Amino acid sequence: MSSTPTAPEIADLVRRVIAEIAAGQQNGAPAAEAVRQPGVDASAAAGSSGAAGASRPAAAYGIHATVSDAVVAAESAFHQLESLGMDGRRRAIAHIRRIAIDDAEELGRMEFAETKIGRLEHKIEKLKVLGEKVPGVEFITSEVFSGDHGLAVIEHAPFGVIAAITPVTHSLPTIGCNAINMIAAGNSVVVNPHPSGRKVAAEGVRRFNAAIHRDLGIDSLVSLVAEPTLESASELFNHRGVKLICVTGGPAVARAALQSSKRAIVAGPGNPPVVVDATADLDRAARSIIQGAAYDNNLLCIGEKQVFVVEGVFDRLLAAMERAGALRLNAAQVDALTNRAIVMAGEGPHRHPVPCKDLLGQNAAVLARAAGAQADDRLELVFGETDVDNPFVPTEQMMPFVPFVRCRDVDEAIQRAYESEHGFRHTAIIHSNDVRAMTRMGRLLDTTLFVKNGPSVAGLGLGGEGYLSFSIATPTGEGVTTPLTFTRQRRCTLVDDLRVLGSPDSLS
Ligand code: NAD
Repeated sequence: MSSTPTAPEIADLVRRVIAEIAAGQQNGAPAAEAVRQPGVDASAAAGSSGAAGASRPAAAYGIHATVSDAVVAAESAFHQLESLGMDGRRRAIAHIRRIAIDDAEELGRMEFAETKIGRLEHKIEKLKVLGEKVPGVEFITSEVFSGDHGLAVIEHAPFGVIAAITPVTHSLPTIGCNAINMIAAGNSVVVNPHPSGRKVAAEGVRRFNAAIHRDLGIDSLVSLVAEPTLESASELFNHRGVKLICVTGGPAVARAALQSSKRAIVAGPGNPPVVVDATADLDRAARSIIQGAAYDNNLLCIGEKQVFVVEGVFDRLLAAMERAGALRLNAAQVDALTNRAIVMAGEGPHRHPVPCKDLLGQNAAVLARAAGAQADDRLELVFGETDVDNPFVPTEQMMPFVPFVRCRDVDEAIQRAYESEHGFRHTAIIHSNDVRAMTRMGRLLDTTLFVKNGPSVAGLGLGGEGYLSFSIATPTGEGVTTPLTFTRQRRCTLVDDLRVLGSPDSLS
């Protein structure tokens, strides 16, 4: 006797057919098309996940030569994912997590060799923590209103294909993190990576897709434009198949996304200030500042960039910094480093200081030598006293030198911190045991992350509570992104029925 199949039965059937196709591909001919894709390592592509049969297109493992190919492949992947339900999402994410953790050493080395910025141990660690701490499908919950008129259920639906722009400071970690969040929400993603981190981006994406393809038969759930440019970013923003944009980067890309006609989630630049007042535990403050500012040579957008200290504890905090292992530069050395490390960019009224490229993300010992001091490569951070007009104060320097500015009292320190943050409303840190000072600073700076008595990374759940993301949406307000960030709400209403509470006699 035959009956109409149920939705779960259809989903199961589709999954089995896709798995059979994938199994067939693994036994087929070499993935000739895949190995011709730019950025794909031929032997690895052929060996990692099997090959395509002669009569059907070969798996691209997410790597595409054009924006259009990438979006079309991502659209198809989105529909396949949809047919596999929550279990499909869970399994796809599990592969990304496993690869991020198991291959962290190899991929971290690759990222370090390609980008030539930051510290190797932190490149590796960022991949591991992304695998462990970025939230997944457990964040996709529904809300319900149950009352006299029945039920209304609010569910969180995917958008479809999302365009992601990623930074050079954490190329593969941002892609992995975005992919977990977006797939957990049921989407697929097309990435236009930073050109200087595109090779590791391609290798990571290829590994993610090869594993997902082998298990679920979906290719290009995470698609990547192999040769990214500003033009390909703009083409991606404007592609009709793209339903949502997520950019992670500095001022130029944040502006471009905000001007786009599509909805954009913008994880923009920061310049996080630190305030230290007279009630602070100075040794704890010093250790925290070093931990946050030295992490990956201060490439993190949340990393401590300038410190405002009340007069009464200024000299003692600087001594604590030295005890904790940072190297203090004298005034002449600070001047030498400033002249070497900060340059002017832009024209006319837009002229402003920026970090010089060849010192950005370099080791503290390199900065020490540029300042005329000596240090070995184990040194984590250099620091020195500056006045508030030193260009290191307003500049997001992204290097492990931190200026310390002497302030009359905590109110002046908070005001200076506010000015140096430029209204990005990104991240601020205070070391204090005065809750009133904390409250005043929290209210004035109005930042997305506000960390008290710990390193900035505690604000992302690393030594503090909460979860991790490498995309902190600041001007658009979504905050530390989660799977829910990449959903749209749908409401499903049933009038007068299925509220099972109440008297049976009340049903008409
Ligand atoms: P970047 O702005 O130079 O590049 C970021 C990305 O944007 C790259 O892929 C780049 O190719 C692209 N891009 C740049 N200009 C563009 C334009 N006009 N149109 C389209 N795409 C464009 O930044 P970066 O050096 O790679 O990263 C560091 C910056 O990113 C810092 O300012 C940092 O604060 C910020 N950042 C923010 C977060 C966050 O979560 N808020 C996370 C990481 C980095």
